[in-house]
Amino acid sequence: MLEVRNPYSSEVIGTFDAKTKETICSEFSAAQKFQSSWQKTPLGQRMRAISQFKDLLKKEESALARVLCQETGKPINQALAEVSATGERLDFFLNHIEDAIGDQNLGVRRGVSEFISLEPLGVIANISAWNYPYFVGLNVIVPALLTGNCVLYKPSEFATLTGLNINRLLHESGIPKRAFSCFVGGGEVGQELLSLPINGVFFTGSLATGKKVAEAVSGKMIRTQLELGGKDPGYVCEDASPITSAKSLSGGAFYNAGQSCCAVERIYVHEAVYEEFLSAFVSSVKGFEIGDPLKKSTYIGPLTRPAQMRLLEDQVADASSKGAKIICGGQRVGRHGNFFEPTILVDVNHDMRVMREESFGPIIGIQKVSDDDEATFLMNDTSYGLTACVFSRSQQRAGKILSGLKVGTAYWNCCDRVSPYLPWTGRNNSGMGVTLSIEGIRAFMAPKAWHMRGLR
Ligand code: NAD
Repeated sequence: MLEVRNPYSSEVIGTFDAKTKETICSEFSAAQKFQSSWQKTPLGQRMRAISQFKDLLKKEESALARVLCQETGKPINQALAEVSATGERLDFFLNHIEDAIGDQNLGVRRGVSEFISLEPLGVIANISAWNYPYFVGLNVIVPALLTGNCVLYKPSEFATLTGLNINRLLHESGIPKRAFSCFVGGGEVGQELLSLPINGVFFTGSLATGKKVAEAVSGKMIRTQLELGGKDPGYVCEDASPITSAKSLSGGAFYNAGQSCCAVERIYVHEAVYEEFLSAFVSSVKGFEIGDPLKKSTYIGPLTRPAQMRLLEDQVADASSKGAKIICGGQRVGRHGNFFEPTILVDVNHDMRVMREESFGPIIGIQKVSDDDEATFLMNDTSYGLTACVFSRSQQRAGKILSGLKVGTAYWNCCDRVSPYLPWTGRNNSGMGVTLSIEGIRAFMAPKAWHMRGLR
């Protein structure tokens, strides 16, 4: 039995039976039999269903956001922003699908016509995370369905109600049940899906689970995409505005209580602007309202997973024992719900876990640096490589620093931003593969090379 608990009130707000092995196998087998018909369904029909899905998301956005808020603790305005911005992503897929998947004619060589066609992978599994269930789920589900794949979707056990809402709305929009099915449950359901002869796996979650997923499918020779964690750095140069950068970086670090894959997790500040930056950063963070996620003015709600509180406490204790100073926060807030105070640590260094391991919570270390080389070295001193941002007046200077970083996304004077037009991808322990952009559509297809010589 799977219980869904509200992380603010701790009340149980839903109970579900996780799918049994038999049901998982029979739904997989139905999808496998149906996949070639789904592939042959005219693209226009698949597009109409996704377009209808987009309309339903819009129509129900308030109710959907409320459910998301109640099961994950995401503040209601942020939940609403996620549901409503999902429409823009769907527009991107709908507007670019035809160009992305058309045949590519490459001319005639020595009497042989050469072209490339793209074919769907088949039946794919999407094992998803809870922190942005609409974004990370639909980045996979929608292009996979549009390109003719059948999808076995496992939402996170911390976003089960949202997963079921996505499932309901897709079916109401005309996506056949055999093309898309939802498997609620915990890690054991994910493991069960991976044991099937699937044709691809698209996973979003932690590095630890990502490694298990990669091991589970290592013998299958299937497309494997892993969108994993990050330890994303920001650097404020001495020519940047300390006030503007502090405002932007405090939002990047504390939005969704720091539970964003691209949350800013550590900040380096040039010594010339350090004091001014720190004071602006602290005052910005002190302005964030913490509390009931259903209240519109709340900026920081409870953490979704209770276990994360202990990890944050451990990181604070480790940093303090090694000389870090707590400027604000540093502990759980003494009321109901998984609340952790927004925490700012200074006098930090890279011997401390908080500067090297993913925190995934409302906590940030700020380190003083003396030049760009030192900042570049520290920003690269991580096993992750999702995003990095540089604040500077000079595009050339920021570009030079960002080019030297092993990350999938580079931000100049902005952070914590995702665009459907750009590939979402990581380096090293941040994973492998691409979602979003044209490449993130083609990720669900395999190329076929055609060599065609007509009979003379
Ligand atoms: P998680 O790894 O705990 O769980 C992810 C999913 O894997 C869940 O659906 C879970 O039930 C399932 N799972 C657990 N064990 C499994 C197993 N053995 N086999 C198959 N599936 C299994 O991650 P989470 O707590 O849901 O998400 C937070 C993490 O996700 C953070 O590290 C965050 O950085 C990362 N994330 C990354 C991105 C990105 O784009 N790179 C986006 C969102 C979240």
